Amino acid sequence: MPITIARTVSELRAARARHRQSAERFAYVPTMGALHDGHISLIYIGKNCCERVGASIFVNPKQFGPNEDFSRYPRTEKEDVEKLEAAGADVVFIPAVEEMYPAGASTSVSVAGLTDMLCGASRPGHFDGVATVVAKLLLQAMPEVAIFGEKDYQQLQVIRRMARDLDIPAEIVGAPIAREADGLAMSSRNRYLSAEERKVAPLLYRMLGELAKQPSPAQGLSAAREALVKQGFTKVDYLEWRDAETLHPAADRSRPSRLFAAVFLGKTRLIDNLAL
Ligand code: AMP
Repeated sequence: MPITIARTVSELRAARARHRQSAERFAYVPTMGALHDGHISLIYIGKNCCERVGASIFVNPKQFGPNEDFSRYPRTEKEDVEKLEAAGADVVFIPAVEEMYPAGASTSVSVAGLTDMLCGASRPGHFDGVATVVAKLLLQAMPEVAIFGEKDYQQLQVIRRMARDLDIPAEIVGAPIAREADGLAMSSRNRYLSAEERKVAPLLYRMLGELAKQPSPAQGLSAAREALVKQGFTKVDYLEWRDAETLHPAADRSRPSRLFAAVFLGKTRLIDNLAL
């Protein structure tokens, strides 16, 4: 069966009604497109748990700040649809901005607490934009399962909390980070990197690995921030050791925790994290 392309909410709902008629479960993978193997790994997870799987492709203006890369964010719809079809996706939702935010749209979803630290501190409003669009995407499609990558670990935690708080009846599943052979976390933004920057980029994951080996990573954080700049990163936005659930600073290894980093390479902002 060729992939169904839905551009309106009603087309998407018609496709979902057909799944329901045959009692087929649906796994949904929201994306901003410019798909890479990390996105596709989420589609495969969906295929393993549900009879039907779909993705959305929507570069959500509400989650970009005024000086961020919304207008130059890569848009590769044709290739994306081909990749999704090759991976066996059944449906892709590709709405225009006006379909998601018709004139007069004035409701936004805000998750308190989890969103004022890490990426939330450096990107004000970002997680409100994410929570709003993901709430809409989940309510439009009503998937049984929704899959999000641990690459954006804070986003995953925000979405879990949002779905729980709003009683959205989808199981939120976290997926492991897909990496390039040299360890760089796959990202649509990696294509912004120059050849020189691309050589420096994997040193971030290597640094997380070094810190993870230390008995208490807290002591090594400030030296690691300096070392990253010496290695060629333009700026370290944050490098932190945090509780995996609350995202508050971790003090010991008695609970699950993670190292979190956001760095700039030139103008490109890269994020990564590693479980301890
Ligand atoms: P994006 O298109 O960047 O909004 O990402 C769409 C989804 O794919 C999000 O749930 C991301 O966390 C996930 N994702 C992006 N990159 C990766 C990766 N390298 N490994 C696993 N999941 C990823």
